Formats: sequence, structure tokens, C-alpha cells
Amino acid sequence: TYIVTDNCIRCKYTDCVEVCPVDCFYEGPNFLVIHPDECIDCGLCEPECPAEAILHEDDLSPEQDRFYQLNAELAELW
Ligand code: SF4
Repeated sequence: TYIVTDNCIRCKYTDCVEVCPVDCFYEGPNFLVIHPDECIDCGLCEPECPAEAILHEDDLSPEQDRFYQLNAELAELW
């Protein structure tokens, strides 16, 4: 799955949402998140993000690891 990380916080772009074929982006309190069970790993959103906030789960740095859980939790809220 792909994960939205901290660079998205307060980002106003939604280019990623527009390209996602399965509509798995959800709005968190101050950034967008990806539902990990709905993402089909197509990778289309990653290059669309002007903030470079979207990463594949395997590419998360140790500091970004918590965003995996955060995306899952916040996506479930909606
Ligand atoms: Fe949507 Fe594809 Fe991005 Fe997953 S990788 S969030 S399916 S655009």
C-alpha cells in the first residue's frame, strides 16, 4: 500500500485524489490519508503529489513508520 506522510499536512492540492482509480483517499483532520486495505498499489498518485508526501510502505523512513498506522486509523473514521 501507499502511505500519505507529514509533507501533506495543510497541503491544498488534491491531484492525488483525482488520479486514484479506487477512490481510497480520505480526509484526515489536517491531511489526506490512504486506506491501506483499499489501495491497489497502482502507484499513480505518487508522482502527482507536489509535496512528495506519498510513499510506498517499503520506502518509509523510521520516522515516517507511524504514518502507516495513522493512515489506517484515520481512513476508518470516515
Ligand atoms: Fe490510489 Fe493507486 Fe495511490 Fe493506491 S497507489 S492510493 S490505488 S492512486
